[in-house]
Amino acid sequence: MINHVRVRYAPSPTGEPHLGNIRSALFNWLYARASGGQFIVRIEDTDRARLVEGAQDSILDALRWLGLDWDEGPGMEGEYGPYIQSERQALGIYQEHTDWLIENDFAYQCYCSPERLAAMRQAQQAASKSPGYDRHCRDLTEKERAEFLKQSPSPVVRFKMPTDGDIVIDDVVRGEVKFDSALLDDFVILKSDSFPTYHLANVVDDHLMKITHVMRAEEWLPSAPRHKKLYEAFGFAMPELVHLPIILGPDRSKLSKRHGATSVIYYRDQGYLSSAMLNFLAMMGWSLDDSSEILSREQLLTYFTLERIHASPAVFDKDKLEWYNGMYIRDMDPKTLSEQLIPYLEADVTGLPASVARPIDREYLTAIVPLERERLKRLSEAPEMFEFFFTDDLEYDQALLIQKGMDADGARAAAEQALAVAEAASDWSTDGLEVAYRALVEETGLKAGQLFGTIRTAISGRTATPPLFDMMSVLGRERVIARLQAAARAR
Ligand code: GLU
Repeated sequence: MINHVRVRYAPSPTGEPHLGNIRSALFNWLYARASGGQFIVRIEDTDRARLVEGAQDSILDALRWLGLDWDEGPGMEGEYGPYIQSERQALGIYQEHTDWLIENDFAYQCYCSPERLAAMRQAQQAASKSPGYDRHCRDLTEKERAEFLKQSPSPVVRFKMPTDGDIVIDDVVRGEVKFDSALLDDFVILKSDSFPTYHLANVVDDHLMKITHVMRAEEWLPSAPRHKKLYEAFGFAMPELVHLPIILGPDRSKLSKRHGATSVIYYRDQGYLSSAMLNFLAMMGWSLDDSSEILSREQLLTYFTLERIHASPAVFDKDKLEWYNGMYIRDMDPKTLSEQLIPYLEADVTGLPASVARPIDREYLTAIVPLERERLKRLSEAPEMFEFFFTDDLEYDQALLIQKGMDADGARAAAEQALAVAEAASDWSTDGLEVAYRALVEETGLKAGQLFGTIRTAISGRTATPPLFDMMSVLGRERVIARLQAAARAR
C-alpha cells in the first residue's frame, strides 16, 4: 500500500524542453498535487557527452512558466538531495552501488575495447543475429581479469542479465508487458569515465529518493526490464510504473523537429499562454471524458487520475494548440490581456514600429483589446494586428478606398463627407457615431456598404477590421480626422 506519493520529473539537460518531456513533467506534477504528494525534479546529467549548455535553465524555465512548482530539486534542497546527478556522482553514490553489485556477483568489469565491440557488432549483423554484448568478460577468471585490467585500466561495468526466460513488467497504463531476456544484453551501468549510465543512476536515485511512481514517456518502456532486474539485485522495492503514450506528429510518425518546433520555450515566445499550453499538454494522453476539452488548472487537479491516462498514442496538433490559445485569450479580461501583450508590442524589432513612442498608452491598449481579442490566436500577432491603432503614418494601397460601383472621385468625395461628419459629431461613442453615419447614408444616397468600406480603409488601411464604429470610437476623433483627410486627398 502506497500511502505517500512521491513522483519525479527527471530530465536530461541535452536540449530545449521538448513538448513530450514537459508533458511528463505535467502529469507527474498533477499526480503529486492531486494526491497531496511530492513532486521532485532531478537532473540526469551523467551522459557528459550529450550535455547542452543552458539546457537545464531552459527546462526549469519551462516548468516555472507553466507553474509546475517542485517540492525538491534544483534550488529546493530537501532531505534526499543533491538533486543533480553529477553532484551525487561526486559523492560516490553510484560507485558504491556498483561496487556492491560486483561484490555480490550481479555485475562485472568489462575490458572490451571499442574496436572489439565494433567488430562484434559487425559480425552479428553479418550473421543476422540480434545485436548486444556477447558477454565476453562475464565469466573471466581472476587471473584473466588482472591481465585485462593491465591493458585497459578503466573498464566499464556491466550488469548481469538473465540469459533466458521472460521478464514481466507491470505497468499501470499497459498492464503486463513481457520482454524476452534473450534480447536483452548485459548493459553498462558504469562507464569508463566512472559516471553511471542512465539505468543505474535512475534506479539508485528513484530508490534513495523514495519515489513511489515512475511516470515517463513510453519510449522508456524498453528500459523497464533492465530496471526491474537492478531493483531485484539490490533488493529494492520497485516503484509503480506508469508509461505515458507516445506523442506522434500529424503524419503519425514520432513527433520530432520535422513536424515544426517542439520546444515549449518556443511556444512561450510565440505568444502562447501558459494556461492554454497546460490544458493542451494535459490532453495529450489523458482525458476526462469524450467531450471536455477546456479544463483549467484547478479542474485538472480535481479530475486527474492515473486511470484516465490513455495507452494509445497522442497526436500533436498545432491547430488544436492554436485553438486552445484563442479560447484562453478570449476568456481573459482586457486589462490582464493588455498586460500580457505589452512585452510583445513594446519589443524592439518584433514589436510595434520604432516610430510608435514607448511606453505605449495602457488605457488606449485596454480599449483596443476587446476589439481584436476574437481574432488574436497568439500574443505575438498583436504588433501586426494592432499597428494601425498606433501608427501616425498609415500606409496602404489607396485603391482599396474605392468600393464596388465607385470611382476614385467617388471615394474621395465619400471620405470628404465622412470627414465633415467626424468634425461635426457631438457624440463620439460607438452608438453616436453609428447614428451620425447612418444619417449620412440617407443624405448622400450612397450605399452603406460603399461609404463604410471607404471609411474602414481610410482609418485602418485594411478591409477586414473590428466593427467600424467601435473602431472609430476607440481610435478617437483626432486620428480619424487625420486619416479621413489623407483619404480625401488620395491620388
Ligand atoms: N533522464 C530521462 C529523460 O531524459 C528520464 C527518463 C525517466 O523518467 O526515467 O527523459
